[in-house]
Amino acid sequence: MRMELSRRQFLGTTGAGLSSTTLLALGFGDVEAAHADAIRPFKLVNTTETRNTCPYCSVACGIIMYSKGDLKKGEKAEIIHIEGDTDHPTNRGTLCPKGAALLDFVKAETRLKIPKIRKPGSDKFEPISWEAALDRIARVLKDDRDKNFIVKNNDGVTVNRWTSSGFLAASATTNETAFCTYKVVRSAGMVVFDNQARV
Ligand code: SF4
Repeated sequence: MRMELSRRQFLGTTGAGLSSTTLLALGFGDVEAAHADAIRPFKLVNTTETRNTCPYCSVACGIIMYSKGDLKKGEKAEIIHIEGDTDHPTNRGTLCPKGAALLDFVKAETRLKIPKIRKPGSDKFEPISWEAALDRIARVLKDDRDKNFIVKNNDGVTVNRWTSSGFLAASATTNETAFCTYKVVRSAGMVVFDNQARV
């Protein structure tokens, strides 16, 4: 049976024990066992570490997410703890209050996990598969670019602009991904390009 033992009780009990039973050759008998039993096991034991980037701002701090559950065994992985990555050159293990609260962000009931679409004339968003969402985005962008691409301005100067669509990227990314995103967007002639951190 598990014994609950507060710090005060432990000190009191061991103090009394020492004064009266030094005969136990410096051992604490049941108290020692109860004390060991009362210590919480380290919560990150048997977790999987996954490195990632804080999604909030352009500082892009490195994080480590600890999850329980083995996907290879068909178990559901659940993130139980997130902390700063001490090996990351940007933040060296530190996180600001927003980053430190990332677990709440991950587990928020209002978090959007699937793409949704609001069809023309509709007043509500409906779930859509990733495949269908990507196909639709590609179709709409292509049609808009074909219709509104500006090759030359009024003075006859070649400008190759596409101003009727915009692209909102994410700052929580690597330099390489950001470079590719920038190349795709600008190569298409898109002028309106931003991200949530305005960098
Ligand atoms: S932990 Fe704070 S500073 Fe670092 S990326 Fe996240 S929001 Fe930005």
